[in-house]
Amino acid sequence: MRTRPTLSWSPTEDLPPGTTDLGPVADALRSGGVLVLSGAGISTESGIPDYRGEGGSLSRHTPMTYQDFTASARARRRYWARSHLGWRTFGRARPNAGHRAVAAFERRGLLSGVITQNVDGLHQAAGSEGVVELHGSLDRVVCLSCGAFSPRRELARRLEQANEGFAPVAAGINPDGDADLTDEQVGDFRVVPCAVCGGILKPDVVFFGETVPPQT
Ligand SMILES: [Zn+2]
Repeated sequence: MRTRPTLSWSPTEDLPPGTTDLGPVADALRSGGVLVLSGAGISTESGIPDYRGEGGSLSRHTPMTYQDFTASARARRRYWARSHLGWRTFGRARPNAGHRAVAAFERRGLLSGVITQNVDGLHQAAGSEGVVELHGSLDRVVCLSCGAFSPRRELARRLEQANEGFAPVAAGINPDGDADLTDEQVGDFRVVPCAVCGGILKPDVVFFGETVPPQT
């Protein structure tokens, strides 16, 4: 009579404190058709902070609302100054083992899709395709007047030129890509308009108070 092979490591015992039992996850993945829904937690090891985790920013951070952004030039200056500084961290972030694992599962045909709440583009950087970005992406900028999309790195370059020497030390960086700056640090930061029509530029992310596009 054959005996079943025994595992040298039991997935339900001897787990270090705080470790998740991955047995059920592995079982689910083996059968395929798994949908990955990811949030800020997957990107923390890439240097992007979580709202709630250790060092989380929810307590000191009030995200910009769509209404404030569109109504007030002062609010936009504040947003772009903070976001521009934060981009130096976001723009440098690289995918971690978690993003790479998701991409590997996808290549093996085990996933039905990837939906992310993150705006950091790291799933795509790891090789995932057809990612649904529920809240958009900081990688792109959209003009509120003519609707033209442009790459964020292009705007970063223009903001760099318009604000030579802007290098305040931020108290922290938030998951939505902006740095914590005081009004004094924002100072007279100069915002640049749409290069096509001169209109107001907004990151292609869904702000609080804004609805997720229907097709998404
Ligand atoms: Zn425009």
